[in-house]
Amino acid sequence: MAEETIFGKIIRKEIPADIVYQDDLVTAFKDIDPQAPTHILIIPNKAIATVDDVTEADEPALGRMFTVAAKLAREAGIAESGYRLLVNCRDDGGQEVYHLHMHLVGGRRLGRMLQRQS
Ligand code: AMP
Repeated sequence: MAEETIFGKIIRKEIPADIVYQDDLVTAFKDIDPQAPTHILIIPNKAIATVDDVTEADEPALGRMFTVAAKLAREAGIAESGYRLLVNCRDDGGQEVYHLHMHLVGGRRLGRMLQRQS
């Protein structure tokens, strides 16, 4: 089991967050520092630290993250215009919070996924 992070406290509603969806497997809440008009984090309720820590037993929660992402994108009105789902892993991936999370980002033109290296 991963070490406790701020996201664990959000799941248990011990600290405030703008939770937009929660069920037995996943929780979704608005990112505190949104990078686009829609920026929601979707996380497993189980504290999995990184993508490198997932196991087959986590597949129901990981699958649920995608179905919830699609549902929330439809509700936000960005399903047809498009959006990006993003999961960072460890240092080089830019991961800051070590509780696996999927970013749902949209509502504007997002441009290239990665900056070109010169
Ligand atoms: P990452 O760099 O992929 O680990 O992303 C971590 C994300 O968590 C960032 O986009 C932060 O803005 C977001 N974040 C950190 N603390 C909170 C919080 N208390 N409530 C909502 N979002 C948060």
